[in-house]
Amino acid sequence: MDFFYRNYKRRIILAVMILLTMILIITNVVIYSILKHVMENQFQSAGQSVAVSVSLIISEDLDGYRNFMKTRDTTSEYYLRMQGCFNKIKTASNIRFIYTLNKLDDTHIEVILDSEPIGSQYYSAPGSIERMNEFTRHVLQTRRPTALKPVHSSYGYLLGGYAPILDEHSELLGMVGIDIDYGEVLSIVQQLLIALTTIFILLLLFIYLLLSRVSHFILDPVLKDKLTGAYNKRFFESTLQKSIGISLKTNQDISILMLDLDYFKNINDTYGHIFGDVVLAKVATYIRECLRKDDFFVRYGGEEFAILIFDLKPTIAMSLAERIRKSVESHNIYNAEENLSIKMTISIGIANLQQRELSALELVNEADKALYKAKETRNTVVNF
Ligand code: GH3
Ligand code: MG
Ligand code: MG
Repeated sequence: MDFFYRNYKRRIILAVMILLTMILIITNVVIYSILKHVMENQFQSAGQSVAVSVSLIISEDLDGYRNFMKTRDTTSEYYLRMQGCFNKIKTASNIRFIYTLNKLDDTHIEVILDSEPIGSQYYSAPGSIERMNEFTRHVLQTRRPTALKPVHSSYGYLLGGYAPILDEHSELLGMVGIDIDYGEVLSIVQQLLIALTTIFILLLLFIYLLLSRVSHFILDPVLKDKLTGAYNKRFFESTLQKSIGISLKTNQDISILMLDLDYFKNINDTYGHIFGDVVLAKVATYIRECLRKDDFFVRYGGEEFAILIFDLKPTIAMSLAERIRKSVESHNIYNAEENLSIKMTISIGIANLQQRELSALELVNEADKALYKAKETRNTVVNF
């Protein structure tokens, strides 16, 4: 595998991996947002429903509630009964706090009934004052239940709902608040996402390993000629233009060899196209045997080949071409059908860049001209 093929493969794999990683990130963000949104809605409506239920429980004994609002007696039968009821609801759910609120003035509310055990860290004594927020204000104004958006507080990341407590004449007595521990819910979503990301990363790793191993199945048909295994003209042209740029920057020499089989048409005419193909493939093999790993071997046209050689002095390129010519000439190509062997020869034209600012086309033209000259005698190497 030569430098340009490796480079091409690396770029393709990198592009695929970047694409997949972006898809992974976008997928994760989308999944997280959707899950978060769905969970938020679910828990908000759950909070709201529980708030309405608790409000109904309180409405069963409005006198008890009114009386407690006056006495604030935390040893009363009513208080203990309500606390017991709230705690039963809490143990059966992920509700963090249940409480009732009473309007003091336009900016303050007080906590009346609280589900937390007296003396606990989160216990609010009956009558403890809190600031009004947009949700409490909403319930006070509309007398309708409302959902609580998630908020970070000193108690944690909470969401839930409020519901009004109405008396016999539908006058507002207060409201019920339900707080659900949303942080806990989110951490489950996050764990799910971490698991999903891990699976995705393993999948990416697997795809990377797979691509590194099998990418030639995809790349070869795009970059190579099937019959000879040489690169195709398209890949040669893009490679040559880049190579000239690199050569001018790094002071590396570049040579182009254009090769054309001599009297190849006769082979087709005499033995048929199938044997013609065999000859082409064989000659390609003889040529390749003379090349180094990073020499860029191309099937340029029907029975024409090109070789892009890096960092060889013109004289050495010349002797390489001579070696190729001799190798092709020396081989016998066996035709099983006719039971005979034939010999092929090849003509080669060479052009060297030698730090001139030429275009790819100009350099190829020079090699073509040299080949044209070689064709005058055939089985010859000519330097432009
Ligand atoms: P010259 O020495 O002047 O190069 O003579 P030539 O006969 O090799 O040149 P010409 O260009 O006249 O003939 C090339 C022939 O190569 C013509 C075409 O039928 C044949 N050819 C091109 N591609 C293929 C191929 O893929 N398979 C086979 N079997 N023949 C091919
Ligand atoms: Mg030709
Ligand atoms: Mg020919």
